[in-house]
Amino acid sequence: MRDFELVLSFPSGSVLIGGHSPAPEGVSVIHARLPDGRPVIPATALRGALRESFEGMLRALDEPACAGGNGEDPRRPRPMQEGSCQLNDGQPCRACRMFGGGRAQLPNDQRTFSALVLGEAVPSSEFIGWRTRHGVAIDRSRQSASHQRLFRRAVPEEGLTFRARGRLTVDDEKLRNDFEAAVIATTHIGAGKSGGLARVEMSLHWCEEKTHPQALPDGDELELELVLRAPASIGVPLALGNFRDTRSHVPGSALRGAIGFALAEILPDPSDKAFQDLVADDKKTAAIFDFLYPVDPDKGPGLAAPWPITARECQRNRDHGVIDTLLDRIAVATLKSPEDALRIEPQIRERCAEPGCNHVLKSPQGTRRAQGPPKTRIVTRVAMDRHRGSARDGALFSTAMIEQGTRFVGRIRNIPAEGREHLSLALSQPLSLGRGRAMGWGSVDIDRIASPIPMDSLQKRRENFEMALEKRLRRELQLDFDLAGRLLVFTLLSPLISPEQGGTSDAGDGRAVIAAELGDVAEGLEWLFMARRFDIERGWDQRKGPRRPVRAVKAGGVFVALLPKEILWDDVSGALHRMEAQGIGERTREGFGRVICFDPFICEGTRQREHG
Ligand SMILES: [Zn+2]
Ligand SMILES: [Zn+2]
Repeated sequence: MRDFELVLSFPSGSVLIGGHSPAPEGVSVIHARLPDGRPVIPATALRGALRESFEGMLRALDEPACAGGNGEDPRRPRPMQEGSCQLNDGQPCRACRMFGGGRAQLPNDQRTFSALVLGEAVPSSEFIGWRTRHGVAIDRSRQSASHQRLFRRAVPEEGLTFRARGRLTVDDEKLRNDFEAAVIATTHIGAGKSGGLARVEMSLHWCEEKTHPQALPDGDELELELVLRAPASIGVPLALGNFRDTRSHVPGSALRGAIGFALAEILPDPSDKAFQDLVADDKKTAAIFDFLYPVDPDKGPGLAAPWPITARECQRNRDHGVIDTLLDRIAVATLKSPEDALRIEPQIRERCAEPGCNHVLKSPQGTRRAQGPPKTRIVTRVAMDRHRGSARDGALFSTAMIEQGTRFVGRIRNIPAEGREHLSLALSQPLSLGRGRAMGWGSVDIDRIASPIPMDSLQKRRENFEMALEKRLRRELQLDFDLAGRLLVFTLLSPLISPEQGGTSDAGDGRAVIAAELGDVAEGLEWLFMARRFDIERGWDQRKGPRRPVRAVKAGGVFVALLPKEILWDDVSGALHRMEAQGIGERTREGFGRVICFDPFICEGTRQREHG
């Protein structure tokens, strides 16, 4: 692997890459902009320009080169080929080797899609402002000015330089030479050649190699705090037409994928056993890559997880804090008489308890450690027809992306001792989450690696729960509650995927999974209360392609079970420990089915947002 920096300047003026940002009032087209208003050279445009020059150079040398990774040599037309480019005696052409070949799946003999990882180029000096240029619209079909129509283009001021970071994933001299040649051969980028735009000068600076393995804390569990250095697109299970939404969290598979990619690039032998054991699927000895959830900066420690479905906050004033309503729901679920129901009704928490407020409560926004969902931007691109050099009709693609600067916290648990060295190596490499890695999307900085602060023990959490239950139901609501010591409470910290069910009535709603984990004691188990929502989950396997969509119980689901009278705590505590440590249901190595028993938040009272 070799890092580099690419510096771009525009000696004859400015640059215009349209189709990325909506044009403001009075302007027909504006050069691509960052959300903060500064200009940017999008990674796709940069790659496209480099690739085109490189393809042209290869053709001038009479070497095989396909067009944009389609596997076809435009000089030697032949019937369409299936699969990836094979122009180079059965191997991909040199352009495909560098830039990738548009393949959806990773061929078995190749480690990555593209040897080049290149991010967007941002201004490297202070940006002063935009300039307007006038142009004349040309009618493409008649090759003439269309009714002499003038239009205005907004371009960055002159004299600006841009800087992009990137790397070659294989440190190979031939590849380095190819990339240097592509950089030198690239003299234009974007539109407006005739109007003095588009001429570019690029200079390439290789960085020194640095591979200091990241020091890991002791133990088989660590917590990571990651900060997005570039926008990220984290795939949703179902895409809608030309719009691709993003998740607001990072599934464990995305973190595991990033680590797997990093290791595949640097390990001499990617079939190395310790590596494969680290990232193996559904194997109890492999590491668990938990979901990462957004957190606000400078919040105290605590679970980075979605709120339980039973959490509520004041609809009027968020400073009134977040409460959990589970104890009251248990009270309602165990009422013995209509008289009790009428009597406690005014005391049940449906409204804000802040003195003088009394406003309706609603489900809280954000996560346990973030005030709201992460900021996103929509990037819209026009699909270009390379043969005609114009936009394909109606081919607009929009991608939602999480903004750079967003923080995520999550854990890697159950780390096998033999995998520690690999993990520390992987965490010292550049990591990218989600789609568009080759364009620099989703690249993250590791802000913190630490041993997680342990929660109270299971025993202690259960005691706290029992005390809170006693206080609320017996003392405050004055109910005749006689189920003390028999309740089990489960809260999902990530989505749960049930194994295939044979048509039972509770198929896939989570109860069967929990009961199966409890084993024999589940005979005679009663479900007192459940709050759960459903979702569709799907995964992406780098070698097998998309997985089948499955129904999942959403994170935040809460289950309260009543144990039969004769069952003792010692009969179940082992199973509960195991469920917390290993997760429940399917795909637990990707962080699905992470569960805690007796969530401390239930007994916490009001949590003030600003104190995390
Ligand atoms: Zn090719
Ligand atoms: Zn209130």
